Amino acid sequence: MERMSMGELNPSARILMGPGPSNVHYRVLRAMSTPLLGHLDPQFLSVMDDICTMLRDLFQTKNRLTIPISGTGSSGMEASFVNFVEEGDTVIIGVNGLFGERMVDVAERCGAKVVRVDAPWGNMIEPEKMIKAIKEHPQAKICALVHAETSTGAQQPLEEIGRFCKGHSILFLVDTVTSLGGVEVKVDEWGIDICYSGTQKCLSVPPGLAPITVSPKAIDVMHSRKTKVQSWYLDLTMIERYWGEERFYHHTAPISMLYGLREGLRIIFEEGLQPRFERHRILGDRLKMELEGLGFRLFAQEGYRLPNLNSVVLPSGIEDGPVRKKLLTDYNIEVGGGLGQVKGKIWRVGLMGETCKIQNIEYLVAALKEIMAR
Ligand SMILES: *Cc1c(COP(=O)(O)O)cnc(C)c1O
Repeated sequence: MERMSMGELNPSARILMGPGPSNVHYRVLRAMSTPLLGHLDPQFLSVMDDICTMLRDLFQTKNRLTIPISGTGSSGMEASFVNFVEEGDTVIIGVNGLFGERMVDVAERCGAKVVRVDAPWGNMIEPEKMIKAIKEHPQAKICALVHAETSTGAQQPLEEIGRFCKGHSILFLVDTVTSLGGVEVKVDEWGIDICYSGTQKCLSVPPGLAPITVSPKAIDVMHSRKTKVQSWYLDLTMIERYWGEERFYHHTAPISMLYGLREGLRIIFEEGLQPRFERHRILGDRLKMELEGLGFRLFAQEGYRLPNLNSVVLPSGIEDGPVRKKLLTDYNIEVGGGLGQVKGKIWRVGLMGETCKIQNIEYLVAALKEIMAR
């Protein structure tokens, strides 16, 4: 029988103001359609080196082991635990949202004994509470936090905890999936030992890679494991040999994704880190002001609100599902709904990377005014 043609894929031009993915610059999409090279081709090896150099600048680190993991942000999370945790190790995790919960799940699957430090959703975790937990569990191997809790819009202060971890044997692990490229992340200065991110949020590259950086202190811990890393695919002791001098084959690098990441990083450094953070800060404030003007209430704790992920409580006139559906179908705007315990109560409006533009804010506000007037 003759097979029916499926027709051309032709998605609408959406403005992605949700919690990720964010809009992608056409230069990144164009780079991704560049003809393939082999994953051991000298020209491709220099693409890899470019990426590592730019990732170090982005993470503000000198760590040699700074590479993109093949997989979305969650693969970075998994790699960050599976390479360092062995059965029975104690891991302290700050939990104030969905991604902290996910860390607990991942760590427990690695055999960790997890000590939770909880805070209400929307709040940051008091650094003193984290430090107290570390003092109470001197045997703990890792202390883990989410820098930008995408489920709530809260930004976690890290410096004080990092300073404490620096003076002790414990490793400081931080999720910067939503913060990297949107707000300041200073891996070396803040004493972070294991830091991972994702390409699809403030880097404005499609989902599919998870940049990670690992300090010499953490590499020592990894190399002195008594047991093999439980995950073959995410085993950094093998992956580092492909990204390092040896160029030892582990798995085939996702060539086109890496082309895209290289171009996305080039765009970031053309703008400059400080101007980029400034743009997110100014427009984040602007969006919050506009939404408050429409009757929304800011959800995250004052003083710890992310500029790039704005969480707002819905005013009584706005029905969550139907209004978000109208925004999508009538205006091509995607905004995020709430997750878990804040489902139906809040929206999460992203202003990440390429999406973080004044015209997107003005268009969203105009659309909301029209919908509310109907
Ligand atoms: C999005 C996100 C992740 C997971 O990334 P995926 O690309 O969806 O796998 C992890 N942590 C945080 C804080 C995130 O925002």
